[in-house]
Amino acid sequence: MRKFIVAGNWKMNTTVPQGVELAKAVVEKSQNLPANVELVVAPPFTHLVSVCQVLQGSKVALSAQNCADKEKGAFTGEVAAPMLVSAGCTYTILGHSERRQYYGETDAKLVEKVKLALASGLKVILCVGENLDEREAGRHFDVVTEQTRNVLYNFTAEEMASIVIAYEPVWAIGTGKTATAEQAEEIHACIRNVIEQKVGQTVAQDMTILYGGSCKPSNAKELFAQPDIDGGLIGGAALKAEDFIAIAESF
Ligand code: PEP
Repeated sequence: MRKFIVAGNWKMNTTVPQGVELAKAVVEKSQNLPANVELVVAPPFTHLVSVCQVLQGSKVALSAQNCADKEKGAFTGEVAAPMLVSAGCTYTILGHSERRQYYGETDAKLVEKVKLALASGLKVILCVGENLDEREAGRHFDVVTEQTRNVLYNFTAEEMASIVIAYEPVWAIGTGKTATAEQAEEIHACIRNVIEQKVGQTVAQDMTILYGGSCKPSNAKELFAQPDIDGGLIGGAALKAEDFIAIAESF
């Protein structure tokens, strides 16, 4: 069964007390959401333990925004997947375009990260998406196909059940420009097709594929109505509990 997910990527925003307040507001407002919609919040590493306590007993899951490509040891400043599990995470985002762009995250490194995350029992929200130059050159299908294949094709059908894809066109992230529902749907259908080629129709149909990029309450309904869009990875709008919940209520 395909799962619908709305995940909030808080990025490098909020102090710990502000994050705790935001998490409390999300929990409070999430009581009446339909049972088939899963809510996930991804605060900074420093907030995880405190936010986990707020989420206890709620239906909101905890995610990290990244994890190390090494299991443990002398890697100053890194945070390993088992540490995230011990802090209460059930998910981690991996391969966000900001990590690819500013921190040199390659597909090869992502394969290592996904392996370690899955081995620790985490579910992964794997981000893919083309930048503006690539879209303007008409290369968006190729870029997204390649990113999806380079990482996902290293995993079995069973492992893929713990992976969620987030299609995030880089030109739409934090810019206020949203992909139209048609633009997003055609890429989502393409990603599902790439998955189907590797592991067959049943697994591909069960896979959750999120849209991310200036998704907000005013455009979520149209995006989520598309047959291959199964929710959203939300940046800016996830910092306001009201907007985040309004997006989740768009299903
Ligand atoms: C993101 O960075 O994952 C994102 C989708 O950001 P925004 O919603 O702010 O465009």
